[in-house]
Amino acid sequence: MADPKGFMTTPRQDWSRRPVEERVRDWDEVYVPGALLPIISKQADRCMDCGVPFCHEACPLGNLIPEWNELVSRDDWRTAADRLHATNNFPEFTGRLCPAPCEAGCVLAINQPAVTIKNVEVAVADQAWELGFTPPRAPERLSGRTVAVIGSGPTGLAAAQQLTRAGHTVAVYEKDDRIGGLMRYGIPAFKMEKHHLERRIEQMRAEGTKFRTSTAVGRDVGAAELRARYDAVVIATGATAWRELDVPGRELGGIHQAMEYLPLANRVCQGDLDASPMSAAGKHVVIVGGGDTGADCLGTAVREGAASVTQLDIYAQPDSERDEDIDPWPTYPKLYRLSAAHEEAGELRTAPAADADARLFAASTLRFTGGADGHVRSLHLVEVDTRRRPVPDTARTLPADLVLLALGFSGPDRKDGLIDQLGLALEPRGTLTRDSGFATNVAGVFAAGDAARGQSLVVWAIAEGRAVAAAVDRHLTGSSRLPAPIGPYDRPMVV
Ligand SMILES: Cc1cc2nc3c(=O)[nH]c(=O)nc-3n(C[C@H](O)[C@H](O)[C@H](O)COP(=O)(O)OP(=O)(O)OC[C@H]3O[C@@H](n4cnc5c(N)ncnc54)[C@H](O)[C@@H]3O)c2cc1C
Ligand code: SF4
Repeated sequence: MADPKGFMTTPRQDWSRRPVEERVRDWDEVYVPGALLPIISKQADRCMDCGVPFCHEACPLGNLIPEWNELVSRDDWRTAADRLHATNNFPEFTGRLCPAPCEAGCVLAINQPAVTIKNVEVAVADQAWELGFTPPRAPERLSGRTVAVIGSGPTGLAAAQQLTRAGHTVAVYEKDDRIGGLMRYGIPAFKMEKHHLERRIEQMRAEGTKFRTSTAVGRDVGAAELRARYDAVVIATGATAWRELDVPGRELGGIHQAMEYLPLANRVCQGDLDASPMSAAGKHVVIVGGGDTGADCLGTAVREGAASVTQLDIYAQPDSERDEDIDPWPTYPKLYRLSAAHEEAGELRTAPAADADARLFAASTLRFTGGADGHVRSLHLVEVDTRRRPVPDTARTLPADLVLLALGFSGPDRKDGLIDQLGLALEPRGTLTRDSGFATNVAGVFAAGDAARGQSLVVWAIAEGRAVAAAVDRHLTGSSRLPAPIGPYDRPMVV
């Protein structure tokens, strides 16, 4: 702890966002470039270097947060970068995308704003690249063993990097034309610009990881053939089978799944398309689903120039303060949070029907109606109570010519045939079955990430990738020195 009184003398200060009017006119990250570095050492000084650091407990990666807070407060970026990368392969991803369970668990958060742990993480990660502290770390010798990793999201990338560095020959198979999984075509660039991905992929290539894009295992390459060709296979194919909204009018034109819409906008940003064929420009947009995917649709529709955007959440509006009975410290509380996209929607008044920002809470969709052309025109909804029973006299209609469904995902997509060709066992909820060592029912085949855990977060995906790598390394060599931060049945901290 560089300054024992830092938490008493320095108030929390977050990395400031660019003005709304400016940032909605581009797709760049929402933060003011260069504004973090001048404030971050003082912010790191607020860390109390707790005897029992709950921040560390709350992070699935077991990030060594008090250590790098102290190093940053002393401007020792090189050692901070070493300690950060000791537990996290891709801190520039989590530093931008993570909802930061570590901050919810920070001891300071009991009676003060938490330490800005996520900001410290991203500052260290970016400085590490800027100052050249992240060279490729190719293995000194090869094991002669081969591993196929299927899927190039954060799980597959973390597993591949760990296994390559351990000396195995690793090939990553990806059905999309580019590497990155949901970080590539799901998450919009205003949350994480894609050059962060390119830089890591370049590092991984230099370390020896091979990438095979536009190759769907099960369709372009037989899954059994792949299993026979490699000593081990890691399935990290994500959970992208989306949930449906089974209400009258669902078949109308103009109603799309979030993950049909977001990839097109991402392709525009990456120069593949001049304009998205689903663009929200000039349209009345309604997003059904109150989660992060819905917020990503909101920020995207605002940038595309929608006439109005409303986001429906079936849950009641949560409080802005932690409810100590339901979500006591150090658990991650359900709170009313104002994401960058909500801030934009609120300031621009994108949803005349909503009070503060674009969200209508406790709102359940009853049906859609359309015009003679078969295209959606209106969404009919009703307010519901906590048991989802309609509240009398609350029915209302919103204009809608683009509806985006962001209702979550049920498990891995089975369309490519990978699961059936290998005969992989599934849990009743549709995710891949695995044992305590991440092994599936098929010898030499391991499962990790959203495909096995169910839809989760980037930080859990990286933890899964690191842990499955340790299991595969042990399978191939009889023992492993690779770290395994989580087990397959670990879950976020709850009461
Ligand atoms: C819109 C959206 C926004 C999100 N925002 C956030 C956020 O801000 N912060 C956060 O922490 N989490 C966020 N998440 C969740 C996070 O992105 C996921 O939890 C994480 O990406 C899961 O990683 P994964 O590697 O397991 O799977 P994925 O990222 O889904 O990657 C799986 C990869 O496998 C490939 N694949 C599938 N089948 C095959 C096959 N047969 N052959 C070859 N390749 C195949 C897919 O194309 C994909 O590239 C978001 C999710 C969505 C949908
Ligand atoms: S819990 Fe908060 S104050 Fe304590 S060590 Fe972690 S970051 Fe520092």
